[in-house]
Amino acid sequence: MSDWNTRTKLVHGGTRRSQYNEVSEAIFLTQGFVYDTAEQAQERFLKAGDDEFIYARYGNPTVAMFEERIALLEGAEDAFATASGMAAVNGALTSMLKAGDHVVAARALFGSCLYILEDILARFGVEVTLVDGTDLQAWQDAVRADTRAVFFESMSNPTLEVIDIAAVAEIAHKVGATVVVDNVFSTPVFSNAIAQGADVVIYSATKHIDGQGRALGGVILGTKEFIRGTVEPYMKHTGGSLSPFNAWVMLKGLETIDLRVRAQAETALKVAQALDGHSKLSRTIYPGLKAHAQNDLVQRQLGGKGGTVLSLDLAGGQDAAFRFLNGLNIAVISNNLGDAKSIATHPATTTHQRLPDAQKAELGITPGLIRFSVGLEDSDDLIADITASLDAV
Ligand SMILES: *Cc1c(COP(=O)(O)O)cnc(C)c1O
Repeated sequence: MSDWNTRTKLVHGGTRRSQYNEVSEAIFLTQGFVYDTAEQAQERFLKAGDDEFIYARYGNPTVAMFEERIALLEGAEDAFATASGMAAVNGALTSMLKAGDHVVAARALFGSCLYILEDILARFGVEVTLVDGTDLQAWQDAVRADTRAVFFESMSNPTLEVIDIAAVAEIAHKVGATVVVDNVFSTPVFSNAIAQGADVVIYSATKHIDGQGRALGGVILGTKEFIRGTVEPYMKHTGGSLSPFNAWVMLKGLETIDLRVRAQAETALKVAQALDGHSKLSRTIYPGLKAHAQNDLVQRQLGGKGGTVLSLDLAGGQDAAFRFLNGLNIAVISNNLGDAKSIATHPATTTHQRLPDAQKAELGITPGLIRFSVGLEDSDDLIADITASLDAV
């Protein structure tokens, strides 16, 4: 299966068939499994084989199909599926860290990732240094002999800064630190994070993997040793496993992810090009635009693809941003991303509301900033809708 090209892996990878030989993957909506004998139960608790299951918190056939398919897509040895993206971030970091360890992380992070680093890990004696992720000298200055992990979003939410995975990995690996990458905005379609030096890659499957706004999920990808030796014991005993039903939603999402995300990115570029320079905007941020500060890196790291999200900064501040949101007829006001439906978000008053104003300013989360996740609608319709709402502001 690892010789197959991407779209074949996404349709057939990891499929396990029951005795009925069903075409579409079955949902094994069961918490447990029956043993033929007491001896077999004893044996399985001692050492479960690849297709032997004990309890859905430890593993389940539908969940295993999802793990195998996403690992094939990412080019990772193994994967552990989690109940949400945040369960994946927490599981990857907490399973490997202990009191006294040092972590370096990029400052521009999703609010819940910041909470894990600054509140939870700090409470358990892990020292965290935050840096400007785009400044390689800052990473170099921050890593130390006792740095156990570095963590960053390869494309940051919501200001779409792109971080150089290969360069940060080189700095981190010199001190023996594990490179953990939250890769949601880069998407598993455009990412080559493991080949570029990441040791552990995390996705919120809630975003592009489902892609239709139905279910929460997440995944941690890495070496077999890390996933089975470090992550699995932590996850299976603390309970952040993915439900078999949600695993089935994600498994079916993977069948179409390559088609969907490529179409969304193509439309996102058209929208960004159409809006760039609009008189009501002070900035149009899209990594696929030549004018983006890290467009060279986007060419090297993501094959030139800028992803499915753009950010627009309205010159008129929050009042203008709200009027723009309220004037949209196609895109919905919500806070998911990667969905088939285009979604517009005002980060300063929603996803990043709790950050102090000074921190918002430092991260570029201005009162006029709108995060726009491009869906699967017709690009002409989207551009007409956005432009009409902007013109009316
Ligand atoms: C959404 C998101 C998460 C969290 O995922 P959930 O599935 O909502 O828990 C983590 N990191 C990034 C970059 C995200 O966009």
